[in-house]
Amino acid sequence: MSLATPPSTPPVLRVTDLKKHFPIKKGLFSTVRGHVKAVDGVSFELGRGETLGLVGESGCGKTTTGRLILKLVEPSGGDVRLGDSPNLAALPNRQWLPYRRKIQMIFQDPFSSLNPRMPVGSIIGEALAIHNLAPRGEARARRVNELLEQVGLNAEAAKRFPHEFSGGQRQRIGIARALAVQPEIIIADEPVSALDVSIQAQVINLLEDLQKQMGLSYLFISHDLGVIGHLCHRVAVMYLGKIVEIGPGPTLLQQPRHPYTKALLSAVPTIEKEKRRKRIILQGDVPSPVNPPSGCHFHPRCPYRFAPCDKVYPGLDPIGDGTVRVGCHLYDPKYKEQLPESFRNSASSPATAP
Ligand code: SF4
Repeated sequence: MSLATPPSTPPVLRVTDLKKHFPIKKGLFSTVRGHVKAVDGVSFELGRGETLGLVGESGCGKTTTGRLILKLVEPSGGDVRLGDSPNLAALPNRQWLPYRRKIQMIFQDPFSSLNPRMPVGSIIGEALAIHNLAPRGEARARRVNELLEQVGLNAEAAKRFPHEFSGGQRQRIGIARALAVQPEIIIADEPVSALDVSIQAQVINLLEDLQKQMGLSYLFISHDLGVIGHLCHRVAVMYLGKIVEIGPGPTLLQQPRHPYTKALLSAVPTIEKEKRRKRIILQGDVPSPVNPPSGCHFHPRCPYRFAPCDKVYPGLDPIGDGTVRVGCHLYDPKYKEQLPESFRNSASSPATAP
């Protein structure tokens, strides 16, 4: 499958208008004084065998989005469906268990995500027991060994404890645990950011091989655009709890449209001179998700902001052939006559071409 290929089969995961507003409580009676809008209306689809990258600065809501899908954090609203399932975001936890098998998570820190008191065989076997996938004894031990081999570890690892392994090996154990229940979808939350660069490549190659063998779909959460560019068929960029641009990986990374995506990409170091972009330094800090700016939430930091930006929130609208969607007034034909000079001029610069 080419990295540019969008999902061609019915989506295995559909997320619509997903929200998490954490209440801010104060005083003796825990009166709610406001909300932190960590995720504020996120929608996307994930195809079978597809990798969708979710990127953005720390605190943009990408990790919370992954946790909401798995109900590790209770959603405030929205709709999450696996194939033709009911809305999982609204299901009570007991009814959610049968679907839990189809979607698994790989965590950022492989050490803290593994129980240090349990041998690896028991850690992986636990998932098999919960979902009643291998009876006790020999059958379970055989399945654990198969899983260890699948992720490049030998059977002897089952008797050892997590602290006896390196970071990369521990991440392989985390992957084996996720694979134990034969999921369709894996949410990988910064799975390589705690690893050395050489080990990162091994784990990424392993994830790619497993996808080819098993047809897995990945929601790959990362702040590392290099990794995202290597692995993801499509990329979604988040800012302050919302997706601001989504499209095929190669298109989005070579020709970013949203000013925030341009700024993110301009900060990626490269040794190839022709690929270097003019660095865009954003002014100010990320605003508070408690009280986001009016209109486009990015407007206080945007070098191209113009008349409608602080008044109207832009929709995530398709542009060009429709595979890319951008939440920015610069691409809205309604405002064509009002475009700022700085943006018109940037059209002549290949480094920042709109
Ligand atoms: Fe910048 Fe306006 Fe586009 Fe927001 S809508 S990214 S402020 S140009």
